[in-house]
Amino acid sequence: MPSKSVALITGANKGIGLQIAKDLESHGFIVLIGSRNLENGEQAVKTIGSNAYALQLDVTDQHSIAAAAARIRQEFGRLDVLVNNAGISHAGHPSNPFPSDGAKSGLLTVAPIEDIRTVYETNVIGVIAVTQAMLPLLQEAPAARIVNLGSTGGSISWNSTPGNPHRAMYGAYSASKSAVHAVTFAFAAALESTNIKVNAACPGFTSTALNNFAGTRTVEQGAREAVRLAMLDENGPTGTFSDEDGPAPW
Ligand code: NAP
Repeated sequence: MPSKSVALITGANKGIGLQIAKDLESHGFIVLIGSRNLENGEQAVKTIGSNAYALQLDVTDQHSIAAAAARIRQEFGRLDVLVNNAGISHAGHPSNPFPSDGAKSGLLTVAPIEDIRTVYETNVIGVIAVTQAMLPLLQEAPAARIVNLGSTGGSISWNSTPGNPHRAMYGAYSASKSAVHAVTFAFAAALESTNIKVNAACPGFTSTALNNFAGTRTVEQGAREAVRLAMLDENGPTGTFSDEDGPAPW
């Protein structure tokens, strides 16, 4: 078993996940780059320090999840941090990678039910499935941390503030992030008698493929809160949602 702590980041072949992996590696972790396309994960590994390994992991594929958990146990023997970062903003299609109408086609009044299912499968069920599969390893770690990537866009309290213009865009993606917040709380409550802390981080509006690089924050900024939560000491909280400025409204 390695003496270094091991961190798995889902969807770490690019964007905020890749930056979280770089940061955790530079803090001394062995980082496992979850990537649904192994080749993309291997390319990403080349941009990180020497303690990075690619791991095929599609969060919507139970076989892939089980195989990843088995490989972690066999090859690394431990898992200290799980960052559930993989996410999609819309179901997308190769011919239409980003909707031209912004988020309007994602509104629950009009979005095709299969598209909504796809977003939930990745953003919500994926988080639950990966967390469940990794729990046996995390429970063996001395002080495991689980970090889920939430979003203030999914904050129901913030969206329900009178006059908040964002709620015109509150569709499948935002609702899936509200669900991620609920899932975070559910795991935190279920695990509160253990050494495992479970928290959600909002990266802020970050320039990545998810928003067609319209975000105003860099991936370095976007990764910070998740990295902080991944390295909480024993006095740190569990069952919280925060961004770089502090606690965020659920
Ligand atoms: P990104 O650059 O598009 O990266 C998303 C990552 O998730 C990619 O590695 C992608 O893999 C992966 N992914 C998608 N579906 C997957 C699946 N089924 N299995 C495994 N991996 C999958 O987006 P990002 O902005 O870095 O997003 C990271 C997280 O931050 C997401 O949870 C997002 O909701 C959250 N977030 C982002 C913002 C923002 O402004 N960017 C704001 C709030 C929250 P492929 O390369 O194979 O597609």
